[in-house]
Amino acid sequence: MPKKNINIAIDGPAGAGKSTIAKAAAKAFGYIYVDTGALYRAVAYYVLSQGKDVKNAEAVEKLLQDIVPELKYIGGVQHVFVNDEDVSDKIRTPEVSMGASAVSAIPRVRDFLFNLQQKIAAENNVVMDGRDIGTVVLPNADVKIYLTATAEERARRRHKELAEKGETVSFEEVLADVNKRDYNDMHRDIAPLKQAEDAVLCDTTNVDLQGAIDMLINIINEKLGNQSH
Ligand code: C5P
Repeated sequence: MPKKNINIAIDGPAGAGKSTIAKAAAKAFGYIYVDTGALYRAVAYYVLSQGKDVKNAEAVEKLLQDIVPELKYIGGVQHVFVNDEDVSDKIRTPEVSMGASAVSAIPRVRDFLFNLQQKIAAENNVVMDGRDIGTVVLPNADVKIYLTATAEERARRRHKELAEKGETVSFEEVLADVNKRDYNDMHRDIAPLKQAEDAVLCDTTNVDLQGAIDMLINIINEKLGNQSH
């Protein structure tokens, strides 16, 4: 029997540093990093580009048949494509963030993206990050980690990031955004964000980026029984 690929599931709320930390861990192990949020963003982007309401389940469902989302790895970096258009940069706006949160509550959107995520994980060694990876998409993952930090700390980091990009938005606005997305993600009926029972909790509130990366790599090594990293 061919060796099963290693699947590492990382879940947690928006702004916990999941993507940066998971990306660094994937690099350390030579695995593919899969940002599943990008797929929900791609769907939201398409819906918005068609001038439709992301909260209108019926309208969004109708559009699904026109969407071919794909993740491609160019020079080791994940790019997101919708119908052959590289939308990697276009999906990082606040409008698409909120849109992704809205479309992700629609059951048929989750079904639509479920197979794609499982296929990638079956075919590759992956570090996959999202909201329901350990609970729904990869319930048999080799390692599950729930990465979090307080809402204030996550908003503080995000605010700093936006300020560095020259965007003038107040801390209060960023915090309200973080709280709203947390609420949406944790209270939706289907696949709500929660820690899987067998996930290791990793709180990065008082840890810097390198510290958080080291924490994650140690947990993965321990769980995989590795000595080599
Ligand atoms: O992680 P990111 O902020 O890019 O995700 C965008 C949105 O997509 C999240 O707020 C969440 O609502 C949704 N999402 C999800 N399940 C995943 C990944 C993301 O519902 N596995």
